[in-house]
Amino acid sequence: MAIQLVTTAAQLRAESARLLTRKRGTSQGLVPTMGALHEGHAQLARTAVAQNDVVVASVFVNPLQFGEAADLERYPRTLEADMALLDAAGVDLVFAPSAEEVYPGGEPLVRITAGPLGGKWEGASRPGHFDGALTVVAKLLHYGLPGAGLSGTGHSDAGLPAYRAYFGQKDAQQLALVQRMVEDLNFPVEIVPVPIVRTEDGLALSSRNRFLSDEERQAALVLSRALRLLEARAGAHEPLDLESAQALVESEPLVDLDYFDVVDPRTLEPLAENCRQTPFRGEGLAIIAARVGPVRLIDNVPLDS
Ligand code: AMP
Repeated sequence: MAIQLVTTAAQLRAESARLLTRKRGTSQGLVPTMGALHEGHAQLARTAVAQNDVVVASVFVNPLQFGEAADLERYPRTLEADMALLDAAGVDLVFAPSAEEVYPGGEPLVRITAGPLGGKWEGASRPGHFDGALTVVAKLLHYGLPGAGLSGTGHSDAGLPAYRAYFGQKDAQQLALVQRMVEDLNFPVEIVPVPIVRTEDGLALSSRNRFLSDEERQAALVLSRALRLLEARAGAHEPLDLESAQALVESEPLVDLDYFDVVDPRTLEPLAENCRQTPFRGEGLAIIAARVGPVRLIDNVPLDS
């Protein structure tokens, strides 16, 4: 069946309930996105489709999480192509609300605060970004909650349908924060992380890559190369030697490095110095952010000995 577009919360509730009933479904998945979709988003959607009877993808460019108005304005909007990509992945419903639908009274007075975890790394250069992102994710998780529009389906006997939401590991800090929000505030949803999708030469897919010139794109490859270097050293139980990996990135004149570190994947606290200097054992996450031409790029790789 062809994918369906809904633009209001009421339509989403009604249509997802109708689909669950029709398919006698017992699970619903939500894939939150800001649109301008690529193969990374398609992977999230396919994972959700494989694991759930009904899948909703949201497409909403959230004004609350943008610092500069210009960045919000130039964010690509490609709904028609997005619908085609989601349809091919097997998604049932696209929820693409207006800003007025999501924030009917203007910007919300009460918001989620990301706390100290929201102030570091990406949060350090984008003040308020994660408060805005978590606030809209909280709202989207509520919009996508299955069962609210169900009646006479037998779900009251069997319990509510399972509910899962899909987030890319590409945005490691966002993922860690969403997982904490869901745990700390008892949201009835399972958060499913999806590994980063890359181009063949290693660049992590991002909707912002389209703003890179050929030369900048070539230069940006140093981010994933440096991460792979650390991954190989961790796998071989060698000292990580973060400094030499940093030097590699800094040797690329078109890349302006913001941070590059090895952290605990859940708390995002830097791992102790001795983890980096002695043969690496355990679990870590190497995270990197840099400005390349007009865009800020982020990437990461899990380290596992
Ligand atoms: P965005 O629309 O960029 O806010 O991203 C929506 C979701 O897609 C987020 O959970 C991202 O982490 C995820 N995502 C974006 N790029 C990738 C990628 N290259 N691989 C996997 N997931 C991604």
